[in-house]
Amino acid sequence: MQYTIEIDQELCTGCQRCTEVCPVGAIGGPEGMSVDINYDKCCFCGQCVQVCSAYQEYKSETSAPRETKLKNRGLLESVKEPLFAAHNMGHAQKVWEALNNPEVVTMVQCAPAVRVGLAEDFGMESGKLVDGKMISALRKLGFDKVYDTNFTADLTIMEEGSELIKRIQENGALPMFTSCCPAWVKYVEQEQFELHENLSTCKSPQQMAGALFKTYGAQVDKLDPKKIVSVSVMPCTAKKFEASRPEMKSSGSQDVDLVLTTRELANLIKHAGIDFKNLEPSQPDSVLGAYTGAGHIFGVTGGVMEAALRTGYELITGKALDDINILDVRYSEGVKRATIQVGDLAVKTVVVAGLANVGPIIEEIKNGTADFHFVEVMACPQGCISGGGQPKVLLETER
Ligand code: SF4
Repeated sequence: MQYTIEIDQELCTGCQRCTEVCPVGAIGGPEGMSVDINYDKCCFCGQCVQVCSAYQEYKSETSAPRETKLKNRGLLESVKEPLFAAHNMGHAQKVWEALNNPEVVTMVQCAPAVRVGLAEDFGMESGKLVDGKMISALRKLGFDKVYDTNFTADLTIMEEGSELIKRIQENGALPMFTSCCPAWVKYVEQEQFELHENLSTCKSPQQMAGALFKTYGAQVDKLDPKKIVSVSVMPCTAKKFEASRPEMKSSGSQDVDLVLTTRELANLIKHAGIDFKNLEPSQPDSVLGAYTGAGHIFGVTGGVMEAALRTGYELITGKALDDINILDVRYSEGVKRATIQVGDLAVKTVVVAGLANVGPIIEEIKNGTADFHFVEVMACPQGCISGGGQPKVLLETER
């Protein structure tokens, strides 16, 4: 297993902020002393990385030089921000090498939440949608094909909506759990294994895209799949773990080779000297860059649920919804329950934002009192928009 999150013992001050936000109680240590991660529990969500403010290595005489730390973490030497104790494994250096290797073809996908988080790292308004600039920046970096995870978010919706209907009609394992958050999937596997059949059998959008790049994408562009380097940009540190899972080789090799976080993409853009703010927007490449609004809303809690219910409605009734906005399941905090009428079927749903809130729902399922059909769980507090790979809010002293 690749440990995609680590805590640097030399830098940790023992402030314990990470222990407070870890949703699964995987971090611990005596107060005032450096803390450590229990990898049997860790889900790699990276919330510890978001809050860590321990970066005193500039002052420490015992610490390894900054250059060594950058290299060990897979970061580019131009990274300006301080190096924090809690950090994720980086892929920026390897992506940079691939972009400068004429022997390979680079294909990239970006998750929905990246285009909403990226602006912040360039001093633009927080939450500003910069999808067009992001695509232009990826082209300027030298990616040969700029595709979109939203394409496969749409595929996930078709598959997951169909699977839910089938499970309800044919007495399959219910409630069905969403499977697009790798931290949640890892939690079920290690803490709730008896419920693993409740997980949807659908791969996450990242992994569907990776498999398509090296199969259908290679066919469309008449490329040798062995020459494709498949890169994803995610708001998420757990996606690095997901991509490295040994079973994720539908194409014959690792479907996603390298995963950048939103932060790492921002650093690559700065490293290349691209004037992000003044870029003209552009569109992703066809055909794996096309998408609908349903794929787009995967970035927030309730988005997967809403999109799947829209599909389920159409599959069951043969008609599209008059109003596609199912607000009862959208933008939840904590736990939100709703019953949605899909034709003659009253589909009972639960949306859980933050892995720390899932305990009571698991209890209901285990003690037989649960009456719901579909459960969406995203490990991060507001879903991927607050993922562990999104721009870090730096304190003034850290800039
Ligand atoms: Fe990753 Fe999103 Fe899950 Fe957070 S909620 S661990 S960002 S997939």
